[in-house]
Amino acid sequence: MKIASHQPLTRKTRIIATLGPATSEEDTLVKLLLAGVNIIRLNMSHGSHPVHRSSFEMVRKVSARMNLHVAIFCDLCGPKIRVGVLEGGEMLLKSRAKVIVTTRAVTGKDGVIPCQYLSLHKDVKKGDRILLDDGKMELKVISVEQRDISCKVVYGGVLKDKKGINLPDSQVSSSSLTANDKKDVLFALEMDADFIALSFVRSGKDILQLKRFMQKQGKVLPIIAKIEKPEALVNFDEIMRESYAIMVARGDLGIEIDAAQVPIVQKDLINRARIACRPVIVATQMMESMINESRPTRAEVGDVSGAAMNGADAVMLSGETSVGKYPVQAVKYMDHILHEMEKWQRSHPQSLQSVDMQVTQSPRRALANAAVGIARDLDLLGLFIPTTSGTTAGVVAAFRPSSPIIGICPDLKTARILMLHWGVAPMVMPEVQGSDWEAMSRDIARKIKIKLAGQSVAILSGFGKRSDNNQPVLKILRF
Ligand code: PGA
Ligand code: MN
Repeated sequence: MKIASHQPLTRKTRIIATLGPATSEEDTLVKLLLAGVNIIRLNMSHGSHPVHRSSFEMVRKVSARMNLHVAIFCDLCGPKIRVGVLEGGEMLLKSRAKVIVTTRAVTGKDGVIPCQYLSLHKDVKKGDRILLDDGKMELKVISVEQRDISCKVVYGGVLKDKKGINLPDSQVSSSSLTANDKKDVLFALEMDADFIALSFVRSGKDILQLKRFMQKQGKVLPIIAKIEKPEALVNFDEIMRESYAIMVARGDLGIEIDAAQVPIVQKDLINRARIACRPVIVATQMMESMINESRPTRAEVGDVSGAAMNGADAVMLSGETSVGKYPVQAVKYMDHILHEMEKWQRSHPQSLQSVDMQVTQSPRRALANAAVGIARDLDLLGLFIPTTSGTTAGVVAAFRPSSPIIGICPDLKTARILMLHWGVAPMVMPEVQGSDWEAMSRDIARKIKIKLAGQSVAILSGFGKRSDNNQPVLKILRF
């Protein structure tokens, strides 16, 4: 039997760190995990498969040695559109000048900007905006002639090679799963990643396409849908239906929609994901200044605290840990901010119940709601949830109880998946399913060093897919 990480018992909001050149050494990884990282993100937009393979092996080895449940996800690049190669590496774009963006295979010079996405001329129309380098520069399409798109520079600047292009007004025809992504999916399946993230999702169909591709390979990983396109906001409900989790990918989202809308969208998506019992990640620029500085700004502290207060399951670090100068400090600071916020939440438990969870129609939700209510009314020591796939523990977590949630799972796989859910402390106990719950509770108490005498816990379990194993039980045990 393996003892689960104790960390989720003391901090409910999860921390995701992106690995990169700044965090490729084993001793740095050990420090990251000690500082509180629960989930590792491997960004397939950078690095080669051999590099990601050694990251995988290192994370699995180190987390086993440290007796921590650490999930890993591969983040697919998706149809990120980029500028091609420019002569001299850069080009000055003067405001109000005319330029041509082309899908012809040319080196960029004299106001001609090559684009690596070869269908660009088919997807844009007159009046559309073409945003360059995270929206720092803006072009407006005047006309399209064959492979050449004539544009007027609205906001100029110095454009560098390979910078990203965003098309907030156009319907991009390319699939969310590119040929390159498919190679990365095969790699993620081979490495047995715990989740896979799909970028630039527009509809439920994009998720289904990835799911079908994995089905053909004989294994389907839980999908994290990255919300970073305006279409994804329109189709959010169907995207949630098809995916396991949601990421508010504020980097691209803040370019594709008005950045002033992002905080509102973030709050709205978190609420809707929670009602649907989907874990939700808030990502990008959370501690951006820590790429270069050893302390976050007040605004960044507020952002991390605010995302957790909004109800996010996890907050994510990108450049801060992949290329930053202070990766370990960034995690430590994030952990500290979350601890402070959660301390406040413990003294204001009603702050956890910020959405109407709509319990009708689903026995699992109704019983989870009841269990959370009982835990509060009877001041239970914990909610012990024997769960095979992790679903029941995830649903209980969505109801945000103030008592600890122990997700008792049959294997490490489920334990790692539970790491994406707010507040669930996974514990691997393969022999438990359907066994003596009193003995199980004593066992758990011993492992996590809590005293049961005079205390009560609730057990919620027994939701099966088939009618013969679907016999839900909500039980209160008093010791
Ligand atoms: P990225 O996604 O870092 O892969 O671009 C996150 C975001 O856009 O916020
Ligand atoms: Mn993105």
